[in-house]
Amino acid sequence: MVKKKIQTKKKVQPKKKVQVKKKVEAKEKDKIKFIGQVTKIRQTEPRTVIEWPRSITHIHTYGMLSPFFKGLREGRLMATRCPNKNCSEKRLWIPPRGHCPDCHTEMLWETLPNPVIGKIYTFTQVVYAGIGIELSTPYWQVDVEIPGLATIPKSYLLYGEPSIGMKVKAEFRTKNPTNTVLDYYWVPLEK
Ligand SMILES: [Zn+2]
Repeated sequence: MVKKKIQTKKKVQPKKKVQVKKKVEAKEKDKIKFIGQVTKIRQTEPRTVIEWPRSITHIHTYGMLSPFFKGLREGRLMATRCPNKNCSEKRLWIPPRGHCPDCHTEMLWETLPNPVIGKIYTFTQVVYAGIGIELSTPYWQVDVEIPGLATIPKSYLLYGEPSIGMKVKAEFRTKNPTNTVLDYYWVPLEK
């Protein structure tokens, strides 16, 4: 048997609903606004993928090392020294330590007298900085020997070209401090 196609269906036109509601104009200040960053569409096929930049605020404490960063803001280079008379390490530490790495005694703070003059021990040019480095590239990263220190701290040369043994002077970003270790740097010692 052949089924007869039923073609008697009539299309029923939906009745137009008359909108009688009055448009209520919301005041501009009451409207919800999009305050985010518009995402970029990377692809739509086979599925939509967007680029959605995110940022975070990292809360970080300097803890026992806070005096070091306060010192930088005020134009002073501060170091720690172990007060334990029986400790084998009598010299100063920069970066500072809260406790002595050798005997674990709580360290004492000392301010290096200005001007702080050091000698370049070694250096390297940073051309491709890692994420989070907030210095323009290229810059010279310098390891500087400072008299009386047990350490050879790393920092950067603000201008000029470094050489091994070159004398440099510490300067401080006291005007607009970053409140990070970038607040001290070296400049060639002018004679
Ligand atoms: Zn010690």
